[in-house]
Amino acid sequence: MTQRTLSIIKPDAVERNLQGAILKMIQDSGLKIVALKMLRLSKDEARGFYAVHSERPFFDSLTSYMSSGPIVVGILEGENCIEKYREIMGATNPEQAEEGTIRKTYALDIEKNSVHGSDAPETAREETAFFFSRMEVVG
Ligand code: ADP
Ligand code: MG
Repeated sequence: MTQRTLSIIKPDAVERNLQGAILKMIQDSGLKIVALKMLRLSKDEARGFYAVHSERPFFDSLTSYMSSGPIVVGILEGENCIEKYREIMGATNPEQAEEGTIRKTYALDIEKNSVHGSDAPETAREETAFFFSRMEVVG
């Protein structure tokens, strides 16, 4: 089944100039980029995006970090793409991520873990709509 998922290259990775390297890992996996842009979230926008985590102890730190600098957001498309992108990203905690994954290769720690990917079809729909209008999605 062809799916779409939301990808974010987080501030820690953009700050280290890793956008190109991470996009190459995504493209080498066969996933197609159908939307892409760079922006900076306000703290309130970061709170909105991560609202599901609002009760977690790391929420304030996470939303400060996610609004600390520019991010690159994209929509990826492909067969079984939600699960496939989660595999390429690796585990949330880079210490537990598989060799060759984006997080194992580039993440700094469990918070500054370089990338985001949606976790299910419903969240993928919500998250892609959070960042992109229909006109911005091509291919
Ligand atoms: P994932 O991004 O792998 O889907 P979660 O949805 O559980 O992970 O968490 C969202 C984000 O919150 C993580 O990517 C990471 O940046 C941050 N985070 C998760 N767990 C922790 C934690 N224990 N301490 C600090 N930050 C965390
Ligand atoms: Mg998640």
